[in-house]
Amino acid sequence: MLWKIIPLIPSEMVIDMGRMTYLRGHGKALWLPCPFFIVKGERVTFMVDTSGSGEVMSKMRVEPVRDILSFQEALASVGLKAEDISLVVLTHLMYDHCANAKLLPHARFVVQKKELEYARNPHPLFAGAYPPRLFEGLNFQVIEGDYPLMEGIDLLLSPGHSPGCQSVAIKTYAGLAVITGFCCVMDNFHPESGSAWVSEKVPEVIPPGIHLDMREAYASAKRVKDIADIIIPMHDPSLKTNSQIPD
Ligand SMILES: [Zn+2]
Repeated sequence: MLWKIIPLIPSEMVIDMGRMTYLRGHGKALWLPCPFFIVKGERVTFMVDTSGSGEVMSKMRVEPVRDILSFQEALASVGLKAEDISLVVLTHLMYDHCANAKLLPHARFVVQKKELEYARNPHPLFAGAYPPRLFEGLNFQVIEGDYPLMEGIDLLLSPGHSPGCQSVAIKTYAGLAVITGFCCVMDNFHPESGSAWVSEKVPEVIPPGIHLDMREAYASAKRVKDIADIIIPMHDPSLKTNSQIPD
């Protein structure tokens, strides 16, 4: 079965680029999308992440979050209501990926065991990213490691940004598309020379600026780059103009 991916962007937020690209881009502030995705097959439609509203997320951040659409309006733009969604893959449990989850009354939420454990007991530096009220009480399906969700859809454990982050690999007619899961932009996959140090050696990928384990984050980004025909970075500005991937 071949699938289509529809990015929907209810909100966007100001990010210092250094939060996306480790040791690069600091001091460059940009509005980046805070998306969720509808993934459509012939008989099944499911969602990846939920995004969150400006009202909820602005209270958790130093920088502002701007609403573009309400969550319900974003769903309605593709003919869906919150009640229609029965399956959601949560790439991880940081607030910008799950803040709308409780607006979905009938959904099962697929999450990695390591992510749920970490969200419940985060490192103090990350505690602000995991407000328990956003995820406690959800109807979780807890998985461990790489997991074949259904025909043409594989979940890949992609740790580093957080311990139980997962990528979503999706077979499309244009090849294998991978929603990274970890927070990044396309620059993470096409680094140019130049960083904090002068070096001739250019790394193959740049880990997310926010990470718990830099080496794991590098390996996860490299794995995505190696297997994907189409890389879908979680916060890339190009998502704003892509109504469907592939289009
Ligand atoms: Zn994010």
